[in-house]
Amino acid sequence: MSVESEFIPLTPLVDPFQRVISYLRVSVTDRCNLRCVYCMPEQGIKFEPREEILTYEEILAIVRVGASMGLRKVRLTGGEPLVRYGIADLVAMINGVPGIEDISLTTNGIALPGMAEPLARAGLRRVNISLDTLQPERFHRITRWGQYEDVMEGIAAARAAGLSPIKINVVVMRLINDDEVLDFARSTYEQDWDVRFIELMPFLEEQETCIKDTSLVLGFVPTEEIKQQIEKELGALEPSETRVGHGPARYFKLPGAKGNIGFISPVTEKHFCETCNRMRLTADGKMRPCLLTDREVDLKSILRGGGDDGALREGILEALRTKPDAHHLTDGNRPRWRKMIQIGG
Ligand code: SAM
Repeated sequence: MSVESEFIPLTPLVDPFQRVISYLRVSVTDRCNLRCVYCMPEQGIKFEPREEILTYEEILAIVRVGASMGLRKVRLTGGEPLVRYGIADLVAMINGVPGIEDISLTTNGIALPGMAEPLARAGLRRVNISLDTLQPERFHRITRWGQYEDVMEGIAAARAAGLSPIKINVVVMRLINDDEVLDFARSTYEQDWDVRFIELMPFLEEQETCIKDTSLVLGFVPTEEIKQQIEKELGALEPSETRVGHGPARYFKLPGAKGNIGFISPVTEKHFCETCNRMRLTADGKMRPCLLTDREVDLKSILRGGGDDGALREGILEALRTKPDAHHLTDGNRPRWRKMIQIGG
């Protein structure tokens, strides 16, 4: 019997608020080759011992069972997913799972020049690349360890490998890069990429720790302000017809532009949670129904305790049942940064 004919999709994963969950974000490592000021302190991070991180076989087992329950898309993230050895092998393994229709990856792009091609060959469809500035010196200041040119080469390599669309994630921070909103918006005239402006999520104490050794002070900028700034200078944004779906972004286009402009508004828009179709698997094997809550189900213990597919399925359903209606950031919920890097933003 062929693998395809064995695949019988079950009823979709529906959470208590009637959202259909079809998307799993998998953090493959908590390690990173950058130290972005809003994400990690430069020194003193205690990473998970390697034996606590899920093996590729364990990730595959979870994806396989998830796919039999209705998962259709997988995004690999981190930490930085490209620092994990053999990541293209994991892509190939997931690509062989019946039911999985789309594999994507969120990366800082630094290691893409050598890896875009093997990743594409393994079945990766597309990449989101985090890039908060178009200024090389500033890039180094925000990421502490990164070189802007490496990311540019990474983007070129992703294009050459046929990864499409290319989405550029820009976290907008007052007095750090908010003066580049127009530069990023204008870049879509020439570049057929999606620039996505992301609202900074408040992980307060942790972010203060992250930036204490820099002169940077992080400041939140709401989507509406970013949008107004663009429209005032460059004219009305038109809703984009090519990017309509269940993602967290709302997409627009500047008239005549090749690329799209997206807004991801975890803080100011209910849409972010109302249309959420995601669950998350942390690097150390916890299934989280939401990035921004501390609820989780320990799938690693199930796997390492000899649990079968049925036990994994029950664990996934348990996580699904506890998916909250919303993240409640504005009601004072403050998720822990330490958890964040295991989960992958
Ligand atoms: N290392 C990869 C990368 O740089 O894309 C994947 C992990 S990174 C945590 C995933 C995304 O989360 C990046 O686009 C990053 O900018 C975003 N991010 C991290 N901290 C954030 C915060 N406090 N608010 C909003 N976005 C954040």
